[in-house]
Amino acid sequence: MDFNLPEEVTSLVEMTRKIVADVSKYEAEFHQTGKVPQAVYDVFKDTGFFGLSFSEENGGLGVGLLATVCVQAELAHLPPQFWADVKSSQGPQSRIIETFGSERMREENLPAIIAGDLVVSFALSEPHCGSDVSAIRTNARRSGDGWVLNGAKTYISNGFRAKKTVVAAYTDKDKGASGGISLFLVPTDAPGYSFSGTLQLMGTATPGVAELAFDDIELPAEALIGEEGKGLAYVMRGLNEGRLAIAGTALGMGEYALELALDYAKERPAFGGTLSDFQAIQHMLADMALDMRAARLVALDAAWRFDQGEHRRDLCSMAKLLCSEAANRTADKAVQIYGGAGYVRGQAVERIFRDVRVTRIYEGASEVQRNTIARQLLRD
Ligand SMILES: Cc1cc2nc3c(=O)[nH]c(=O)nc-3n(C[C@H](O)[C@H](O)[C@H](O)COP(=O)(O)OP(=O)(O)OC[C@H]3O[C@@H](n4cnc5c(N)ncnc54)[C@H](O)[C@@H]3O)c2cc1C
Repeated sequence: MDFNLPEEVTSLVEMTRKIVADVSKYEAEFHQTGKVPQAVYDVFKDTGFFGLSFSEENGGLGVGLLATVCVQAELAHLPPQFWADVKSSQGPQSRIIETFGSERMREENLPAIIAGDLVVSFALSEPHCGSDVSAIRTNARRSGDGWVLNGAKTYISNGFRAKKTVVAAYTDKDKGASGGISLFLVPTDAPGYSFSGTLQLMGTATPGVAELAFDDIELPAEALIGEEGKGLAYVMRGLNEGRLAIAGTALGMGEYALELALDYAKERPAFGGTLSDFQAIQHMLADMALDMRAARLVALDAAWRFDQGEHRRDLCSMAKLLCSEAANRTADKAVQIYGGAGYVRGQAVERIFRDVRVTRIYEGASEVQRNTIARQLLRD
């Protein structure tokens, strides 16, 4: 059994490390202005990062999920705002369009997404429900050849910048979630589409997440993604891959927090030595290393198996659950090792502590991942 990464993944990781080192010079400017310098987007465009998880057949790099997770872990050293669009291009919405969209839908959208010119958001959560997808109220009714969409969504990442949104809506409530939910690709400039608010966040993304409202939006028949009533199945498949990408993000944040804490502990003078002389600190570092190593192995195993065609939802859930929980524990310990300095804005550990928190919540909170794993265990 060979636990080493394949050569092509290692070289992609090395290339990403160089890009991360280069792009990090824009961090100070970003912290001053609150705006991501255009040069950062340009680097990711030029290197083809928006096409990472798309197949070569569709114009992407076709590197697979193992490579995607490893690259995402490297990008996670940078402020999330720098790679939010790259992550979005790997999110469930992209996977759903690529896997289930018609040929025409793929041709119309994938080249622009892969070029980094089209941001598509994903709208599942609603004001009254997130984990319980079956409770969504957004609905689409048939009208002539097409559909009329009504409803509201919340917490939508990139909702302000997206030109299109993948929207989950009931097309037949009587059939329940597994046969009654369908997905639509909706242009954000369609009459009746509006942004009803912004929610400011603890970390991760400016200018926050969007609240959306759909008021009698008329959609053509081609806006339906795949088959009517299969929306929940498509979402679950898209989320499997999206959860692996988030596992990569959390993994990278946790590993970076460990790296920073280790350096700090070795340098920070204390009681005639350095922090690293004390067993309390050493044990924290040991637990952080243990957590992050276990997280890495579980995430890479799940991603590698996915690439081999083993699309196991429980393994994707385990990867997201362990990486996000381990990274949160590690970031918390890193702040503790930094002491007061860890609580000060401008320190990377302080930023990571805030940014990593959401990985335990979005695209299925930790409790939902545990439910998925348990359901599979009890079924076997
Ligand atoms: C920064 C950010 C970005 C987001 N981006 C998007 C996006 O782009 N698109 C989108 O559609 N959504 C997005 N979300 C929403 C996110 O996916 C939801 O917040 C998440 O699914 C949880 O739903 P909820 O907030 O409604 O919590 P709830 O479902 O109300 O759950 C609250 C708590 O109860 C727990 N809980 C719920 N049900 C159970 C159960 N059966 N068993 C045990 N525990 C349970 C949950 O785990 C959670 O801890 C985003 C959220 C954030 C914070």
